[in-house]
Amino acid sequence: MHDAVWLNANLATMRDGGAPYGALRDGAIAVKDGCISWVGARSEWRDKAAVEHDARGAWITPGLVDCHTHLVYAGNRADEFEQRLKGKSYADIAREGGGINATVRATRAASESDLEQLARHRLTQWLAEGTTVVEVKSGYGLDTATETKMLRAARKLGDRITVKTTFLGAHALPPEFAGRPDEYIALVCDEMLPAAAPLADAVDAFCETIAFSVKQTAKVFAKARALGLPVKLHADQLSDSGGAQLAAQSGALSADHLEYTSEAGADALGRQGTVAVLLPGAFYFLREKQLPPLGALRRHRVPLAIATDHNPGSSPLASPLLAMNMACTLFRLTPEEALAGLTRNGARALGMQATHGTLEAGKSADLALWEIDSPAELCYVAGANPNVGVVRAGEPIRSA
Ligand SMILES: [Zn+2]
Repeated sequence: MHDAVWLNANLATMRDGGAPYGALRDGAIAVKDGCISWVGARSEWRDKAAVEHDARGAWITPGLVDCHTHLVYAGNRADEFEQRLKGKSYADIAREGGGINATVRATRAASESDLEQLARHRLTQWLAEGTTVVEVKSGYGLDTATETKMLRAARKLGDRITVKTTFLGAHALPPEFAGRPDEYIALVCDEMLPAAAPLADAVDAFCETIAFSVKQTAKVFAKARALGLPVKLHADQLSDSGGAQLAAQSGALSADHLEYTSEAGADALGRQGTVAVLLPGAFYFLREKQLPPLGALRRHRVPLAIATDHNPGSSPLASPLLAMNMACTLFRLTPEEALAGLTRNGARALGMQATHGTLEAGKSADLALWEIDSPAELCYVAGANPNVGVVRAGEPIRSA
C-alpha cells in the first residue's frame, strides 16, 4: 500500500535520455515513506494508495533545486541601486562604505534569529514557485563568529525546505585585512574552516582578480579536502582566471558563473563531470555583455545547472522561474536545458543526484505541480507563477 498517489497528471520526470523532459502524459506517481514508490502511465497503475489526489491535468516536475544562493544576510542595498541609477559610480559607493562591506556590517550586527527570520521571509517566494531544495552560502561575515552564525541560521530553515549549506569565507577581503589577503586566507584555513566544517555541506570561494587568486583558492580547497568537504567555485565571472580548470582539478561539484571560461576550461569541466552553474541574474543586474561559452560547454558535455544567485548586491533575484526565463532569453538555453538546470543538474551541483532532481522510484518525493499546457511554459512566461502545489518528502506543503 502506497501512502498517496497523484492521478490525472502529466509528468516531466526530467530523466536523462528518452523523451524530451522525460515526459509522460497521463501518468501516475505514488509515494511511500517520503520517497517516490511508483512512476508510470496511469493505464498501468494497479496498486492502492491510502490517499488519491486528482492532479486535474497539472504537470508534475521534480521540486526545483536552487543550487546557488546567498539567501542569509541582513540589510538590503536598494539605496545603492537607486544612487547608481542617479549617476553615482560603484567605486564612489564602495568608497563611502557601500557595496559588499555594507552587507558585511549589517550581517555582523544582526542576531542569528534576525538572520533566520529575514531568510525565512525571503524563502516564501521560493516555496511558492515549487522549490524544495535550496543551497545557502555564508560569506557576509568574513570572521569566524559571523560565518558560523550565518550557517546555523541557514540550517534552521530546514524545517520548511531542504537546505544545503556552503561555507564561503573566501568571498571577499574584509576591511580589517585590507592589503593582507594571504593573512586572511591563513585565517580562513586555520580557524574559520575548522569552526565552520560541522555546519557546512561544502566549501566555496570567489576566485577572481577582485577577490582571491588561484593560489589562494587552492589553499582553501586543500583545507576543505583535509576536512572531508566537497568544493565549489565562483569562477571566471569577470575574467578568465583559470577558475574552471582549478575547479575541475579539485574535483569540484560545480564551477559557477563561467562567463569568461575558455574552451580549455570547458574541456576540463567536461572531463571531470563538474557541473557548470549558470547565473543569469547576476549577468542581468550587472548588465554584462560577455556570455558564458554555451557552445563549448555543450560540446564538452558539461552538465548545466541554473540558479538564482540571490544576493543583495549583484543579483537581488527572488524567482527561480525568472532565472529559467533569463537562462533562455539571455543565455539561449533551451527550455528543457533550463528546467534540467533547476532540477536534475541543480541536484548534481549539490551532490544530491542520487536522491533528488528527477521523478524516479526511490528518490525523495519532492514534487512541484503546475497549471501549464507544456513544460516549456515554465520558461516562456516571465512574471507569472503557475504553481498549484508543492510536495516535499511526500508531504504536501503547498496547494493552490
Ligand atoms: Zn554567488
